[in-house]
Amino acid sequence: RAKSAGSGLYARYDPQMHSGLVEKLQLAADLRRALDNGDELQLHYQPTVELRTGDIVGFEALVRWRHPVRGMIPPADFIGLAESTGLIRPLGQWVLAEACRRAVEWGGDKPLTMAVNVSGRQFDQPDLPQVVASVLAETGLPADRLCLEMTESVLMTDTEENLAVLLSLKEIGVRLAIDDFGTGYSSLAYLRRFPVDTLKIDRSFVERLGGTTPDAALARTIVQLGQSLGMATVAEGIEQYAQFLALRRMGCDLGQGYYFARPLPAEEAVALLRDPAAVAA
Ligand code: C2E
Ligand code: MG
Ligand code: MG
Ligand code: MG
Repeated sequence: RAKSAGSGLYARYDPQMHSGLVEKLQLAADLRRALDNGDELQLHYQPTVELRTGDIVGFEALVRWRHPVRGMIPPADFIGLAESTGLIRPLGQWVLAEACRRAVEWGGDKPLTMAVNVSGRQFDQPDLPQVVASVLAETGLPADRLCLEMTESVLMTDTEENLAVLLSLKEIGVRLAIDDFGTGYSSLAYLRRFPVDTLKIDRSFVERLGGTTPDAALARTIVQLGQSLGMATVAEGIEQYAQFLALRRMGCDLGQGYYFARPLPAEEAVALLRDPAAVAA
């Protein structure tokens, strides 16, 4: 939108704004091309570790974009663009299919869970359950080995429509997790209504478990909330031994974070799976 000048009679040309828009359009065109052909898009996989045993029980798929000119673009810099241009639909389908293929390839008789992030915009598509069901059928991944991660906003906006979609997904048998839990505004009443299996404790609460003035109250409250609602708890962003220990003592079930492993390219993730001694816990 052009900024209007003092009098309000004419709009002033703003080269900064113009280049921002052109850049966005260019990036959207690049993303469309990346989705159509080539291997610019990749998934990295971060292990999920059972805190009690140190076992890898699954992975979270995290998308990466190796742009031929700009280099590595983190998801924070293009998921929003994908959402506003409608490209989130093909992107989301590609991520889902690729992650499910890997889960089948790596699982063997180990019941590995593959977690996939699903944007709020993808819930606007009433056919999301059909898309998920057909990816499961094509890849042969058992439904209960797929976990879809969504943020609290999915529960709080378009509530009735999204509830229907989530119930259909539960009928298919996939697991559902709330990502970054504790940062949004979902009420306890809402949480009860939705068929959620797992709470992922946001990194900001895990951060407070380390440092010189640790504060465990919030992380403990979320673990207890999960326990009393019959949901599993996963702590995000564990970077230190002290955080790992504190969460394990609280009874938090699972964890992820640089302390165990960073998100890894597929070949490195499977190597870690074959040599679990490489995991810090
Ligand atoms: P998220 O789902 O909460 O993923 C966790 C983020 O924290 C990832 O960033 C991961 O690399 C980072 N992380 C993991 N362990 C640690 C740690 O110990 N310390 C710190 N400081 N960070 C850690 P990433 O990969 O940049 O992804 C950012 C966000 O982008 C994700 O947050 C998710 O919301 C979104 N995203 C990623 N992949 C996808 C995708 O395929 N589809 C959609 N819709 N969103 C995605
Ligand atoms: Mg996530
Ligand atoms: Mg998260
Ligand atoms: Mg997060």
